[in-house]
This record gives sequence, C-alpha cells and structure tokens, in this order.
Amino acid sequence: MKSLFVTGAGRGIGRSVALLAAEAGWFVTINYRSDVDAAEATLAEVKARGADGVLAPGDVAVETDVLRMFDVACADGRGLDGVVVNAGIVAPSMSLADMSVERLRRMFDVNILGAYLCAREAARRMPRSRGGRGGSIVMVSSAASRLGSPFEYVDYAGTKGAVDTLTIGLSKELGGDGVRVNAVRPGLIRTDIHGSGGQPDRAARLGSSAPLGRPGEAEEVGAAILWLLGDTSSYCTGALLDVSGGR
Ligand code: NAP
Repeated sequence: MKSLFVTGAGRGIGRSVALLAAEAGWFVTINYRSDVDAAEATLAEVKARGADGVLAPGDVAVETDVLRMFDVACADGRGLDGVVVNAGIVAPSMSLADMSVERLRRMFDVNILGAYLCAREAARRMPRSRGGRGGSIVMVSSAASRLGSPFEYVDYAGTKGAVDTLTIGLSKELGGDGVRVNAVRPGLIRTDIHGSGGQPDRAARLGSSAPLGRPGEAEEVGAAILWLLGDTSSYCTGALLDVSGGR
C-alpha cells in the first residue's frame, strides 16, 4: 500500500485529497493544527472508504512538530510515496500599509517556513539516494501568486510566490533521484479559509467573475492533486498547474 502524508487535512482541500487518496487505496497520514474533531472525521471517512490512516497533529511552522509528523507518516515500515504540502492560512483583507509585523511574521512562518520545512523533510526521506522509494511531492500554491491580491492580502500572495519558486527549484534538485515536485494553484475554492479571512462568502461572491462563471470545489482541486501524485503524471515535474476556472 502506498503511503501519503497530507498537511492540513482536517478540512477543505486537504480533506478532499485524503478522501480521494483513500478511494485510490493509499494509506493516509492526516495532519491538522487545532481542530481535532475535523481531523478525526477525516480519518473516519478514510476508513469508511476501505483504506487506513493515522493522525499527525502539529504546527507546520514549528520544526520539532514537523519532524514528529513525518516520523508518524513513515512509521511501522510504511515509508513515504507522496506528500501534499497543503496547510496554509489567510488573514483579514487590508492594504500592505495597514499590516502589522506580527501578521506578516505569522503569514510567512506558516505559508513559507512551514512549506519549506515540510518539503525539506520530504526531500530527506523520499529520494532513492537517501534510502527512499522515490515518489511525488505536490505543493499547494495559489493563483494569488500571479495575481498579487492587491488590497486583500499581498502578504499571502507573496508567500505563494515563494511556494512556486520552491517547487521549481526542488523539482530540479530531486528530478534525478526519483522524486517529482509539482504545484497546484487553486483559484476561488469554496472552503472555510475565506471565513478565517473575515469573508465567508468570498468564493461565492467573486466566483462568477472567473471565466468558468463559478467558484471551484475542494474536490476539483483534490482531483488535480491526485493526478500529480499518481503514475499517469509520470513526465510532469516543476509544473505549476492552475485549477482556477480560468481566473
Ligand atoms: P482551510 O479550509 O482553512 O483548511 C486549512 C487546513 O490547514 C486545516 O486542516 C487547518 O487545521 C490546517 N492548518 C492551518 N494552519 C496550520 C498550521 N500552522 N499547521 C498545520 N495545519 C494547519 O483551507 P483550504 O481552503 O482548504 O486551503 C488549503 C490550501 O489551499 C492552503 O495552502 C491555501 O492557501 C490554498 N488555497 C486555497 C484556496 C481557496 O480558495 N480555498 C485558493 C488558493 C489556494 P485546523 O483546522 O486544525 O486549524
């Protein structure tokens, strides 16, 4: 059975990846930071789909947490065939001129440092030259990285620019070692993240402005991630795949 680790899998896009992976027969390690009920519900749904999994709580911005989470993912001889670096945050909409240094630090800590720490652990454990089996890493970026998100969250947009650049660089580091590294860049997707930015209706309100005329669903992003994890994307690395309804 192939082993997958998904960060931020209690809710939203990460949850949908966990469930689609379970349907495809993966063992799924489910990370979350605070919402244990949501994470346990994801695990129950994984098991209901005939697969197995385990919870790995922790903050992706804290190195000791990340090391422990990856140890759980690899435990019992499972090893690791796929990692989805998904956990991320937004913050209330405002112009850069109004952002506090505390807000900027937390945004960069979770979305950049967290992504780098998780990608680093994957890069230590998956390459064949390091005793791994090879596999696929999928980074969850955002269409914000090319739109800039003015007057909403240029801080968030910049963190996703860093994720894009990491994807390109790491794909070149690991390409010869059996590990592919790609990113998805979702557009406006209906999840709880918009509520944490103070705009719970944001995806519904702005979704109609996308060329496809609606917001996206977490499962539509999850399906793209599953493709990047699997063998049918075998010649794909360093790609930034927009899943944004044309936005
Ligand atoms: P979501 O519904 O808010 O879910 C976020 C998940 O990440 C939760 O499981 C949460 O855990 C976890 N998480 C948050 N901070 C964490 C931390 N520091 N350490 C570990 N886990 C943490 O978000 P989503 O909409 O699914 O977004 C997932 C990813 O897609 C993010 O990287 C986001 O930037 C990206 N994205 C989303 C959209 C969109 O429109 N939804 C668009 C573009 C990109 P708890 O519940 O325990 O806090």
